[in-house]
Amino acid sequence: MLYMPDIEMNKKTFGEYLRHPVFRVISEIVDERGQQAFVIGGFVRDLLLGRPSKDIDVVVVGSGIELAEAVSSRFRGSKLSVFKSFGTAMVKIRDVEVEFVGARRESYRRESRKPIVEDGSLEDDQNRRDFTINALALSLSAQNYGALVDPFNGLDDLHNGIIRTPLEPEITFSDDPLRMMRAIRFATQLNFTIEQKTFDGIAATVERIKIISQERICDELNKIMMSAEPSLGFKIMDKAGLLPFILPELSAMKGVERVGGRGHKDNFYHTMQVLDAVAQTSDNLWLRWAALFHDIGKPRTKRFDEKTGWTFYNHNFVGAKMLPDIFKRLKLPLNENLKYVVKLVGLHMRPIVLSEDVVTDSAVRRLLFEAGDDIEDLMLLCEADITSRNEEKVQRYLRNFKIVRRKLKEIEEKDHIRNFQPPVTGEMIMQVFDLQPSPVVGQLKNAIKDAILDGVIHNDYDEAYAFMLQRAAELGLKPGNK
Ligand code: ATP
Ligand code: MG
Repeated sequence: MLYMPDIEMNKKTFGEYLRHPVFRVISEIVDERGQQAFVIGGFVRDLLLGRPSKDIDVVVVGSGIELAEAVSSRFRGSKLSVFKSFGTAMVKIRDVEVEFVGARRESYRRESRKPIVEDGSLEDDQNRRDFTINALALSLSAQNYGALVDPFNGLDDLHNGIIRTPLEPEITFSDDPLRMMRAIRFATQLNFTIEQKTFDGIAATVERIKIISQERICDELNKIMMSAEPSLGFKIMDKAGLLPFILPELSAMKGVERVGGRGHKDNFYHTMQVLDAVAQTSDNLWLRWAALFHDIGKPRTKRFDEKTGWTFYNHNFVGAKMLPDIFKRLKLPLNENLKYVVKLVGLHMRPIVLSEDVVTDSAVRRLLFEAGDDIEDLMLLCEADITSRNEEKVQRYLRNFKIVRRKLKEIEEKDHIRNFQPPVTGEMIMQVFDLQPSPVVGQLKNAIKDAILDGVIHNDYDEAYAFMLQRAAELGLKPGNK
């Protein structure tokens, strides 16, 4: 949880919190040069919130690059990187990165999202910041070291948990629509409220999100996902009308349809509950994405049947199939992380079905075989998926899952299915029967795998070999002469 450090809110001087030696060094250098410098933005916000952060932003009225060079020369082993075209420079001192920039003034033209940048005052620099809590600056001059410069009452907003733009919200968001995602991300990460006018500004500007690169949107989404209560972000996106632009498949899950008085649950809100429940038990980003997407196939598979009511038959498989396109569009990685999410979404109905039935060894072995090392994550997802309001029902499911878990453990200890490779390989089969690659090789291989999973034979080379010979004989195959 976040906390406010024990500071007197009206004292407004925070020099004692600027402990890193770099601050004193900057102070000396700018005083010698008769300049003014400030630590500003996210670092100050996080400092006052008691959140640790390693990125320090320093703004100097003058040249950021020159100041960075002077600072770097005072720290042995520091690393200086200069970004000439941006007029910025970074000094890395051990694991702390200090970014230096000259105070600037930005003006946007309607037809372009690239601002015109000019040298400016501290005030100009604070005016270009996105939120009042991100515009806080602390002086680094010796005479008022640590004094807060807070033209927009950001400190009050920080204290009250408010996200607010310093200037007119609609202009702020229209100038740089990424700020909409940042507002929602900060609200989620910090559990803050977006002030009404600021929220209205987002709602009025949602369409402009189209001009923002998907990579930057994705960064914000991942930050929302890694928050303690990620549902907050998706609910705000929905309320502001931004969700259809970001994840229309998630928007499509909203609402309850009724036929003859019979409705289904709202799958968007259900998903939000599952996502938060998973977030409480795991900080695996990809398990969280799997939770967000576990029912994504429901809108496409929804049917009403007079007898059984609402069904979402095969929604897990349909959902899993939708994921490569969604990942590609969102610029999420198309690597083993996608594979993992596809696997969990595809398998997420299995433990439930298992627990409703007699839990046979064979069904447990098959689940272990398919889930492999991700079996624990799958069980976490499935337990989170039980969101019924009927407490008795929830308890019954959770009890059944306990049985499934016990059984999984027993069978894994006995049969070692989890990372199981059939003891007789396709190559062996081809060699023994002098076969070219052909369907019959696959048939034999599958028969062996099924026999092991069904408990007909043990997961053992000799038993598998004998089984292979027997099954091959039935197919009229004889071992070759080699
Ligand atoms: P985090 O580091 O958690 O992403 P942050 O607020 O520190 O959050 P940075 O990208 O590190 O974000 O930016 C540092 C500061 O630069 C911000 O606090 C803000 O003052 C300013 N800033 C960043 N992005 C924008 C933007 N799109 N519009 C206006 N100001 C911005
Ligand atoms: Mg930052």
